Amino acid sequence: MTTIKTTCDHCGDVELRPVDLALELDPNRESGTYRFACPECRSIQRRPATARVVSVLLATGVAYEVINDDPITESEIDRFVAALHREPDPIGLLTT
Ligand SMILES: [Zn+2]
Repeated sequence: MTTIKTTCDHCGDVELRPVDLALELDPNRESGTYRFACPECRSIQRRPATARVVSVLLATGVAYEVINDDPITESEIDRFVAALHREPDPIGLLTT
């Protein structure tokens, strides 16, 4: 069975099974975060996951959820549009 080695803040090196982990993926990035319950002390911990770690974890069958902490709000769109109207050369912003 696949085991995933990581470290617990309290216990040091620990080995997890895929079912012990959950991936939190940001739809805007390739990287994400994984969280796990330490098999020794049961504390819940989070670690950053690079794109490579994400793909490895997904390949081993780790469950994932898509987290969108920062959805674009209406007011942000309004500010963006207002900023575009103030900008004399908006296309120029895209090419610099
Ligand atoms: Zn622990």
